[in-house]
Amino acid sequence: MLMEQERTEIVAYLKMLITHRLTKGTGGNISVYDKTLNFMAVSPSGMDYFKLEPQDIVVMDLDGNIIDGKRKPSSEYEMHSIFYRERNDICSVVHAHSPYASVLACLNWDIEPCTYLIGSAGKNVRCTKYETFGSPELAASALEGMKDRYAVLLGNHGLLAGGGDLAAAFDNAEEIEFCAEIYYKCKAAGNPVLLSDSQMDTVLKKFETYGVQPEVDS
Ligand SMILES: [Zn+2]
Repeated sequence: MLMEQERTEIVAYLKMLITHRLTKGTGGNISVYDKTLNFMAVSPSGMDYFKLEPQDIVVMDLDGNIIDGKRKPSSEYEMHSIFYRERNDICSVVHAHSPYASVLACLNWDIEPCTYLIGSAGKNVRCTKYETFGSPELAASALEGMKDRYAVLLGNHGLLAGGGDLAAAFDNAEEIEFCAEIYYKCKAAGNPVLLSDSQMDTVLKKFETYGVQPEVDS
């Protein structure tokens, strides 16, 4: 099966969208891009995540043509393929309707750096203005909103996160949902103390090497 490993991985992570409380029902979607093939594997539209098989995941080229798979692809496939066309550093995109990110998206608020953990996505997370789901306008505004970042809030809609691979994109989605919760609760309680630009520069520098284990001679 074409892109079997990626399709299997997407099935596992779609279930995690539900079990990690990042989305409800059939909301959200996930894709993984293969640079060599220049194809992406993307979740199908409106199917129960717990009944999915790897062959239900659709393989598409970046112009929106189906290469392999019998299912209808996610209506948001253009919001995935635009990142693979325009961003060299992103090979996986995760879209979720997670509760706190969605609350901030409905307020049309950016997430400001009140916790350093926002550094997994960048210095802040922008919120775009509202665009209709599945539209090319939504894809373009998501790309613009995520410029120099690894996450963006889609106005009156939800969360989009990217990464070098699916594990990184999913981690970003979880981390930014957590930051959205903290930011919302800080705003409800008072005025959060925000990290400065230079404090965030230091965080971003440390994040570059965080989790990278030194090589050990055997
Ligand atoms: Zn959505």
